[in-house]
Amino acid sequence: MSIAEKQPLIGLAREELTALLASHGFAPLRAKQLWHWLYAKGVTDFTQMSSIAKGEQAKMAEVFSIARPTVAREQTSTDTTRKWLIEFTDKNQVETVFIPDLTDDRGALCISSQVGCTLTCSFCHTGTMPLVRNLTAHDIVNQVLIARDRLDEWGKRGEERLFTNIVLMGMGEPLFNYENVAKALKIIMDNEGIAISKRKITLSTSGVVPMIERCGRELEVGLAISLHAVRDDLRDVLVPLNKKYPIAELLEACRNYPAASNARRITFEYVMLKGINDSDADARELVRLLGDMPAKVNLIPFNPWPNAIYECSSNNRIHAFGRILMDGGFASPIRTPRGQDILAACGQLKSDSERKKGERVAL
Ligand code: SAH
Ligand code: SF4
Repeated sequence: MSIAEKQPLIGLAREELTALLASHGFAPLRAKQLWHWLYAKGVTDFTQMSSIAKGEQAKMAEVFSIARPTVAREQTSTDTTRKWLIEFTDKNQVETVFIPDLTDDRGALCISSQVGCTLTCSFCHTGTMPLVRNLTAHDIVNQVLIARDRLDEWGKRGEERLFTNIVLMGMGEPLFNYENVAKALKIIMDNEGIAISKRKITLSTSGVVPMIERCGRELEVGLAISLHAVRDDLRDVLVPLNKKYPIAELLEACRNYPAASNARRITFEYVMLKGINDSDADARELVRLLGDMPAKVNLIPFNPWPNAIYECSSNNRIHAFGRILMDGGFASPIRTPRGQDILAACGQLKSDSERKKGERVAL
């Protein structure tokens, strides 16, 4: 049987894995052991699973696949940010970025949820790509496994690891691929496996209002909202999804987000675009809109990409904007651009995957 025909195990929910193994005549204990080998130890070969008898290892290897997708390109920025171009068996590609924290020993993995994006935010490089397909739970979990491989972090204990946090801020809109994202996150959060806690995971959305409540209730992850404008007429242009779900509805959904509290504030992302959304009046309006919500604002200097029509606000302007937010009671850190030299910064990700002529997008 070729690899393409073998049943992939990565990305199956625990119950699915148990049922699949049972259907091949394996005892329930094997599912528990496999889970441990795949997600706590990171093995990529059945022969490494020493708690499973050799005969059973061979039988599993005949019908199941635990191979990783290919890393088609690996780049390291001068600031140590790393980017991997990951290619799946159907040849589609996405980018995954590891951003080490420069001040302490932590780092965040920025993962993608779709190949391309259906949305067309005018300042985002990914938005210039058509949506090619949703990523499956298999594809999403594998981004995490590949990062652990490449960072050599299997077998290390929690506090020795550099990769501690996950942000869903790569290519795609995660709430347009909710089922797969949720399934993958449950695997990633499972305590007997990869074990990254919900407190260390942040999902960023451009504002898919009807999915926000469910995301908070079921996954309890941190929420980041790509706000970028304080008036609907401007947000309609920057984030066209605003025409469907305008600012007032979006903020209402945020106020009701089940997993928010003062200890865990909602992050509002605000890309600083010169002369577009960066005036003092915009900052004051932002303070007014957020009101008494447990929130903080992440100011993101615009990251340029080939043929982009925007420029980044000046440093002085960004700081002045941030001061107004601070005076209004909102922490407003300025996100340092990371990995710009390898196009790994926010909004710069893109791959060459294209939809084949006439091919329909599976949603
Ligand atoms: N689709 C989701 C998650 C991915 S984008 C979303 O839009 O939230 C992650 C963040 O980068 C978003 O806030 C996005 O608006 C921002 N971004 C996109 N293009 C950017 C650019 N060129 N410079 C800076 N930030 C950008
Ligand atoms: Fe898609 Fe997010 Fe980029 Fe908008 S900012 S085009 S939603 S990836």
